Amino acid sequence: MGTYMKQMLASLALRELWQGMAVTLRYMFRPNITIQYPEERTPYSPRFRGIHVLRRFENGEERCVACKLCEAICPAQAIFIEIDTDSSAEKRLTKVYDIDLFKCIYCGLCEEACPVEAIVMGPYLDVAYEDREARFYKKDQLLANGESWRAEIDARLDADAKYR
Ligand code: SF4
Ligand code: SF4
Repeated sequence: MGTYMKQMLASLALRELWQGMAVTLRYMFRPNITIQYPEERTPYSPRFRGIHVLRRFENGEERCVACKLCEAICPAQAIFIEIDTDSSAEKRLTKVYDIDLFKCIYCGLCEEACPVEAIVMGPYLDVAYEDREARFYKKDQLLANGESWRAEIDARLDADAKYR
């Protein structure tokens, strides 16, 4: 039988409609996968790129050495850093570290560029603001995020370490 005839018979028998119905039926009897966001969340990939954090060492010391590599590489120019001129020559610190989350495209290049794993993409992406100024994530907030999400971030970095 020619291809044309086969197609015509399949069309007359509504084959694609029955195939679609079979998919619908299959999913009708599977468990419901609706989640109550934001209280419930689906699992994240270790490479998920959520809101940034700045990390500290275990002893509380800031990891960031104010090298400005993240600021230089950011394609959206979303990062603004001012070096703390009072910090020591051995360990430079930032006085200002701002990220404009309206500009950020969550590319993760800042994380890639950082030589000390100080700036890292975090596990959440809940970016909704009533005030435009709130879009600036400042150093204190970034460090606080790093502390509150420390366990999740450490687990994510460990899971991804072998691919780096
Ligand atoms: S994720 Fe990309 S766009 Fe956002 S701050 Fe980092 S480098 Fe810039
Ligand atoms: S976060 Fe990393 S790349 Fe950015 S200034 Fe600090 S040490 Fe340098």
